[in-house]
Amino acid sequence: MSRKITIVGGGLAGAEAAYQAAKRGLEVDLHEMRPQMMTEAHQSGLLGEMVCSNSLGSEEATSASGLLKRELRLLDSFFLRHAERARVPAGGSLSVDRLSLAADLSAALEALPGVRVIRGEVTQLPAGDGPLLIASGPLTSPALAQALSGLTLRKHLYFYDATCPLLRAESIDFSRLFAASRYEKGEADFWNIPLERGQYETFSAELARGETAEVHEFEKKVFFDACLPVEEIARSGPQSLAFGPLKPVGLVDPRSGARPFAVVQLRQDDLKKNFYQLVGFQTRLKHGEQKRIFRTLPGLERAEFERFGRMHRNTYINAPLILDGFSRCKLDRRVYFAGQVSGVEGYVESVASGLLCGLFAARDALGLEQAGLPETTACGALLGYIARADWRDFRPTKFTFGLLPDAGAESRDKKKKKELKAERACQALEQWIKKAAI
Ligand SMILES: Cc1cc2nc3c(=O)[nH]c(=O)nc-3n(C[C@H](O)[C@H](O)[C@H](O)COP(=O)(O)OP(=O)(O)OC[C@H]3O[C@@H](n4cnc5c(N)ncnc54)[C@H](O)[C@@H]3O)c2cc1C
Repeated sequence: MSRKITIVGGGLAGAEAAYQAAKRGLEVDLHEMRPQMMTEAHQSGLLGEMVCSNSLGSEEATSASGLLKRELRLLDSFFLRHAERARVPAGGSLSVDRLSLAADLSAALEALPGVRVIRGEVTQLPAGDGPLLIASGPLTSPALAQALSGLTLRKHLYFYDATCPLLRAESIDFSRLFAASRYEKGEADFWNIPLERGQYETFSAELARGETAEVHEFEKKVFFDACLPVEEIARSGPQSLAFGPLKPVGLVDPRSGARPFAVVQLRQDDLKKNFYQLVGFQTRLKHGEQKRIFRTLPGLERAEFERFGRMHRNTYINAPLILDGFSRCKLDRRVYFAGQVSGVEGYVESVASGLLCGLFAARDALGLEQAGLPETTACGALLGYIARADWRDFRPTKFTFGLLPDAGAESRDKKKKKELKAERACQALEQWIKKAAI
């Protein structure tokens, strides 16, 4: 096989894969269609741009996202290294200034020996005899999705999910809010809007009644459970929001000394504190409705929207039919699928998938045998799951502790059990790295 790797898509997965392959001495052609052709969600032509939330999830060792990030650090993740440099305060989670992260990462990747970034839309599968990684993400251009249909057995699969609004800081009346992190973790990193029962009920009812964007006939009206629009949650029952994104647990308003009935949280989006996200408020309400309803919240009466919440396409393959345990296409073993299009869900999962595909493709190109990841590791469990899930009802998947085997990590205490699984995962990964990560 050629010592050159071709990657389509310079997002989270593609950028990470490019670094991993280049680090192992391979030449990398990285194709990215932006800025010539933009997706409906990206803001720039930068590589590795996070398109919506600025959070990479919890840092706790016993959280799924915390364990996955710990493994990524063991595997020398390029993206996480840059994420740490762009960190903004966010309690116990890793949140970043998205555009400064992407700018630093792009400059570093473009300067890396062996990496060639080629701008422009890829509409046909690039020819060649070296490994080809498809990392074109949930917003894969329609022409490429069509070109992939030969490999993916169907035209293509998609569903829809929704993103949250971004508010301009100067338009928020912070004197009506209080600063605190849930359970006082970290500094007081979130701004919280406390709601009394009556305020909550009115707000929830308005959301439930809110007018949503039209769904075109050709679009399937399917929502991904983990990313339900906030108005859909409100419609599912009057108390649903109070147990979901507006839950008040772990938050005490210092002015009253009491826990509010419900809380809307705002999280800093950028290092300069110019923008704040409404946490958990992904929505497909019409823009006018977003203004009308969100401005009824105390402190947001004059809120200006930098970006409205919206609904978007999500393209992915039916991984259990298409991929083997190395994220490699069963029909054409030269082709790997990485990131969200491969059937994983989320920023950190997409980085993990890109990292492993970059590494597997490099081993292939160097003529080395593949060494499977232990399924006791988060990375191994995730790739194993998408390759072996039930194809009839396949949906992109996040890593959860439930994907890790229980055997050998038994405990009645749920937290202890997670600790045992997390320690076992990291030990197994360290051993695997010695053997297989070249
Ligand atoms: C609108 C939206 C919001 C999301 N919000 C979140 C969130 O808040 N939290 C979270 O954890 N996950 C979120 N996700 C899911 C997922 O984690 C992100 O999409 C993540 O960026 C996926 O990484 P990726 O590398 O697979 O794709 P991307 O980061 O999207 O990278 C794919 C790249 O391929 C390029 N490309 C596409 N087609 C072509 C082509 N034909 N030729 C050349 N280049 C091409 C694109 O321009 C893009 O740069 C969101 C997804 C979407 C679509």
